[in-house]
Amino acid sequence: MSMPAPGSVSPLDGSALSPVQATPPDRVADLVAAARKPQALWAARPLADRSRAVLAFARAAVDRHAEITAILAAETGRSELECGLNEANGILEYAKGAVSVARKALKPEKVSFSPVAFPGKKAVIEAVPRGVVGIIAPWNYPLANFYKSMFPALLSGNAVLLKPSEHTPRSGAWLAGVAADTLPAGLVQLAQGAGDVGAAVLDSVDAVTFTGSVATGRRIAARAGERLIPCSVELGGKDAAIVLADCDLQRTVAGIAQWSMHNAGQNCAAIERVYVEDAIADAFVPALARAVGRLRVEQGSGMSELGPLQNAQQLAIVEEHVADAVAQGAQVLCGGDRVGIGLGYAPTVLDHCAPGMQVVDQETFGPVVAIIRVPDAKEAVRQSNASPYGLNGSVWTRNLARGERLARALDVGIANVNNHSFCGIVPQVPWTGVKETGHGVAASRFSYGTFTRPRTVLVDSNKDPDPFWMPADENLETLAVAVRDLSTGALGAILRLLPVLGKRVKAIRALGDG
Ligand code: NAD
Repeated sequence: MSMPAPGSVSPLDGSALSPVQATPPDRVADLVAAARKPQALWAARPLADRSRAVLAFARAAVDRHAEITAILAAETGRSELECGLNEANGILEYAKGAVSVARKALKPEKVSFSPVAFPGKKAVIEAVPRGVVGIIAPWNYPLANFYKSMFPALLSGNAVLLKPSEHTPRSGAWLAGVAADTLPAGLVQLAQGAGDVGAAVLDSVDAVTFTGSVATGRRIAARAGERLIPCSVELGGKDAAIVLADCDLQRTVAGIAQWSMHNAGQNCAAIERVYVEDAIADAFVPALARAVGRLRVEQGSGMSELGPLQNAQQLAIVEEHVADAVAQGAQVLCGGDRVGIGLGYAPTVLDHCAPGMQVVDQETFGPVVAIIRVPDAKEAVRQSNASPYGLNGSVWTRNLARGERLARALDVGIANVNNHSFCGIVPQVPWTGVKETGHGVAASRFSYGTFTRPRTVLVDSNKDPDPFWMPADENLETLAVAVRDLSTGALGAILRLLPVLGKRVKAIRALGDG
């Protein structure tokens, strides 16, 4: 049987979804060109004004939440409750946080110069927008992956071109529609389609922020390198949680069930590996299996914790990883099979996993958590770090000071104690990783390097030429030595420096005499 075209059917029951027209790749440059004029006018408006407009846009999105939760539910198969809770409802709150980050990140910075070395000078460093920023998104959070980058990009004074995943084109289209109704015409553009359209975006924009797989991220970074445009790449993950013998068992079980199964594990920061100390493993592992086994996969009733897998390719990866683990001796404690009539997969806990299994070494991106029993925390940290990825990591313990120490030893962008990955919805926190998770930063002031460039404006009100200008003479030599000595704290050097300054000015002015 042939696979349906990406994004054309419901993951829940296979029913057809409304068709979406792809943008011809050779039209993408026109979309970028069409954004240039509104971008220039937008950038000229004060930040307070842009902030008001962005907040009005976010408010309109919340006012229309019923539309987007229905679209998200149709595209992902998740319940409307889940779509609202985890993506749609938080958009205005996120925008408010993004505005407060922008106020700090975009604040002009004065430079103070030494009056001796640089008399009469002042400078200010400003953050200037890049122009048109391309935002290329994956399918796992079709709305939130956009607005995380869209708000700082717009607040910086850029226009944006949104490129949704071909698997979830309608949520991005809806966001662009709300923007068209509330923001200046042409400021937010939309290109639909697959990798060929994404590649065309790369060819035209002034900066790009990409969220997706490692393989595509490498292509994006290479093309951005060729064009010498800034790029932020937020890629895959294989997050680990470390469960210590002294943890609060009930809370740890609930927390790990939450962050391994959230969005059916289709989360770059899902807990996919759990390293549990032998001393607590026999209590923790069955309790986790009981909790995960109770979670319900959406069947059309609306009251469920998980949706199905979003697409058939992802389901195939999950099935392959579980089969590989079982073949190598892992034990299925719950789940381990499909559920429902669509792409549902039962929440799965695999015990006795080990390095060499795909569920331990590769990103699974599904509702599967691998348990690796370890003798102690040291071994847990060692194995956690033996991964090509590093997004979030967590340590679960009642000893907070020890937890913090161990969290710092994790090779990750966000190190948690007694929680995991919730910072993805906090605009002040840099969402970033190490190694193959990519060097990109979404959110926080650290993300502004992609959206803005620094421009320094310097004004020199010194009436005299600077004393170190040409020509060279013995007074310049005295000056050079005195300035060096002064830098070492030899204040007496000032007595040597002052008498030569006037002579230097005279000599420099004489350069221009006929
Ligand atoms: P993907 O790389 O297949 O696609 C992502 C986007 O890139 C899509 O819009 C796609 O059309 C586009 N694309 C594909 N080829 C392209 C090309 N050559 N040039 C430009 N654009 C191109 O990823 P996916 O399967 O949609 O998403 C799942 C992956 O995303 C997982 O690995 C997950 O971990 C990762 N992810 C990471 C984060 C993070 O913050 N680190 C967040 C969410 C998802």
